[in-house]
Amino acid sequence: MPKIIHYRKKCIGCGICVELQPELWRMSKKDGKATLLQSVARKDLFVLPVRDEQFQNSIKVAEACPVKVIQVR
Ligand code: SF4
Repeated sequence: MPKIIHYRKKCIGCGICVELQPELWRMSKKDGKATLLQSVARKDLFVLPVRDEQFQNSIKVAEACPVKVIQVR
């Protein structure tokens, strides 16, 4: 199953991911960065298996992230 990988440390908090895919992303009130909901932390990154119906939109979100801290693979 493909996964969304979020390099959260380098997130600049622009909010585009939340705007495009609100079912998977939230802005953190604590540090102003995006949080990938229900993801699992692995060292510096957060990983979430992505369902088929979320795949295409997840690719769009990864492409739209201005600092390229989201990968889908
Ligand atoms: S689109 Fe990228 S930089 Fe912007 S909030 Fe989401 S993860 Fe952070």
